[in-house]
Amino acid sequence: MNINWYPGHMKKTKESIQKSLTMVDVVFELIDARIPFSSQNPIIDSIVGEKPRIIILNKADLASNNGNKLWQEYFLNKGIKSLTMDALEGKGIDKLQQLSYEATEKRRLAYEKRGVINRPTRAMILGIPNVGKSTLINSLSGRKGAKTGNRPGVTKSNQWIKTKANLELLDTPGILWPKFEDKEVALNLAFTGAIKDEILDTETLALKLVERLAKYFPNLLNNRYNVELEGKSYLEVMENIGRKRGCIIKGGEIDYTKVSSILLDEFRKGIIGKITLEFPEE
Ligand code: GDP
Repeated sequence: MNINWYPGHMKKTKESIQKSLTMVDVVFELIDARIPFSSQNPIIDSIVGEKPRIIILNKADLASNNGNKLWQEYFLNKGIKSLTMDALEGKGIDKLQQLSYEATEKRRLAYEKRGVINRPTRAMILGIPNVGKSTLINSLSGRKGAKTGNRPGVTKSNQWIKTKANLELLDTPGILWPKFEDKEVALNLAFTGAIKDEILDTETLALKLVERLAKYFPNLLNNRYNVELEGKSYLEVMENIGRKRGCIIKGGEIDYTKVSSILLDEFRKGIIGKITLEFPEE
């Protein structure tokens, strides 16, 4: 999905989401466990305000165990509840239900005082495009396939999806805009496929990925492609990978487009390894 975000558009989105927030007890903020900082909306705090919030580090199956642990500690230190999730497999849902129960205790006690028990907890999912909002809704509700609200903000709403554990979910997630100012952030978003190769052509993006992997994850790169890194330029490494993978065009030249697609695809699917690109201390 490609959305062009303009200031007026962001303002409308913010207002529309805030309107929906009045109907829910807790917010599930989805971010990408591989790039928790880059995949967070820049003004999320001001959008969510005082509403109880749970941060879901989604796609945790693609991120490193160490990264997942460090990010959860980071949010814990900031007093924000967080958990890791693999929305595709539904791993993390039990923990999410437990945390939502805890996060909404105040409200529950207030209702119980008035004699209302077992009132369902209502939640809404927020996050930038492609972070896994629809997948999580489907996982929580046990439904399949349906791609929910494909437009920014909240389009049609007020439909409650029943899930286990007395939790009801607003059927339309809030689609937030990503950060775009910072070059590193934009690169991270492009590596993970959150923004679709828009900022750079595929070849340049793949070369940047080779650079990042060679610098920080040389063993993973070497294990996967069995290439020499010592004393080689990143372009040479990429060419070498291309040769090994048979990405050759007539005349024996490297097919850069093909090797680039392979690299990006294998990174995005976690085939190169479980890789976290950002850590809290940075
Ligand atoms: P949305 O735009 O936020 O609604 O994102 P989607 O739910 O459409 O998910 C975007 C892509 O990420 C899809 O290809 C999903 O299959 C994939 N995806 C979502 N959650 C996970 C996850 O936890 N792990 C992995 N490996 N892929 C996921």
